[in-house]
Amino acid sequence: MKDTIAQNVRSLLSRLPPDVLLVAAAKTRSSDEVRAALDAGIRAVGHNYVQEAEAMQAAFGQQEIRKTPRPRWHLIGHLQRNKAKMAAGLFDMIETLDSVRLAEALDRHCADIGKVMPVLIEINSGRESNKTGLDPDMAEPVVREMARCENLRIQGLMTMGPRSGDPEEARPYFRLTKSLFDEFLSKPIENVEMKYLSMGMSNSYRVAIQEGANTVRIGTALFGPRSETS
Ligand SMILES: *Cc1c(COP(=O)(O)O)cnc(C)c1O
Repeated sequence: MKDTIAQNVRSLLSRLPPDVLLVAAAKTRSSDEVRAALDAGIRAVGHNYVQEAEAMQAAFGQQEIRKTPRPRWHLIGHLQRNKAKMAAGLFDMIETLDSVRLAEALDRHCADIGKVMPVLIEINSGRESNKTGLDPDMAEPVVREMARCENLRIQGLMTMGPRSGDPEEARPYFRLTKSLFDEFLSKPIENVEMKYLSMGMSNSYRVAIQEGANTVRIGTALFGPRSETS
């Protein structure tokens, strides 16, 4: 298991352009699996759930051997407002900010612990009514409001895009998100720095990178297929 994960990590890192950040999507994985990925060169770990990150960080805290530098912990799943306090303490980046109320809650909790939190804005690039993320057409005014949160640093955009087996079908949604990213770049807003564009998963990261992603979130291609659907 560990050898396979290490091989997958190395081969993917060798194929990704050097400026692309590889976030290991850790949902359903054990701390041993994630440890193997870290030992092989992963620097950022993405969690979908606050409690999952908490459990894994606790597991790592109990291991004394720390060969690798401390990983960066990213939240890549939806954040509920009642979990904002825990998230403020646990993560190094929240990739899924998608409402002003959530931003304000997170801002307060970050202020309480004296932390400035890097965040990405999640864009609902497929405009799917059942999905989280900001509607691309509504993003700018919302981001302007979020930018008032002094304990958050808006550093880019994240999108999932509609699920599909064919990565080519994701291309228009990645392209749309990149164009929004470029729009923000072209009109500077205080406290908004377009630095990270997080899009692409195991089956779609190549297309995402072609469309301008510099952060990819990958689970299956590192750890193998998940047993449960999630
Ligand atoms: C699971 C997940 C990924 C990675 O998906 P894979 O297909 O396993 O690579 C990326 N981003 C988010 C938000 C996820 O939930």
